Amino acid sequence: MSGKRILVVEDEQAIREMIGFALRREGYHFIEAGSVAEAEDAIAEQVPDLMLVDWMLPGTSGVEFVRHTKRDELTQDVPVIMLTARTEEDDKIVGLDAGADDYVSKPFSPRELIARIRAVLRRIGSADGQLLEVGGLAMDVDSHRVTYGDSNLDLGPTEYRLLQFFMSHVDRVYSRTQLLDHVWGRSAFVEERTVDVHVLRLRKALAPYGCDKLVQTVRGAGYRFSV
Ligand code: CA
Repeated sequence: MSGKRILVVEDEQAIREMIGFALRREGYHFIEAGSVAEAEDAIAEQVPDLMLVDWMLPGTSGVEFVRHTKRDELTQDVPVIMLTARTEEDDKIVGLDAGADDYVSKPFSPRELIARIRAVLRRIGSADGQLLEVGGLAMDVDSHRVTYGDSNLDLGPTEYRLLQFFMSHVDRVYSRTQLLDHVWGRSAFVEERTVDVHVLRLRKALAPYGCDKLVQTVRGAGYRFSV
């Protein structure tokens, strides 16, 4: 089976065990951490393929930890799913804004969790070797590199996939629902507002090169990528 390494950062042992059981059954390597400090040790040993991070951790919170890993060159491309007991919309936005790729609300079923993990890993691995060029931006899908002139752009994994989709589908208008289907995958349980958050982040990353204008809001319809 996949053999992907999944680091689970969760202080509640019972939940860790439940997740560990579900992961192992699916053929994943389960690495557990009861705190941020333990997680950092595990990462130093080997960078995982994906992290499940609980929002509520003693000491450093899960959100702070995610923010930190997304700033660190070593871990910035590791996809993160946040586990949260919080259902407030603002909290979800904070989590996604910190760099999480998805979130699962507690209580969740092992089946739902596995579905999310699969969806996120599928999105990350969807490179098929090509060079895309639009409006001075160049994307090498093989090396996961986005450049403008001599500059390398620093994009989060979701922003990268969003840009890849846009650059492969220039001049067409896509609704938020269509973008969710194409970029996040049909089995991802995310809300339309998520699209806006990541579009905002993508524009921010493109702005220093004047390329933010390429991502156009089409009122009442969605988004279009166009020169
Ligand atoms: Ca907790």
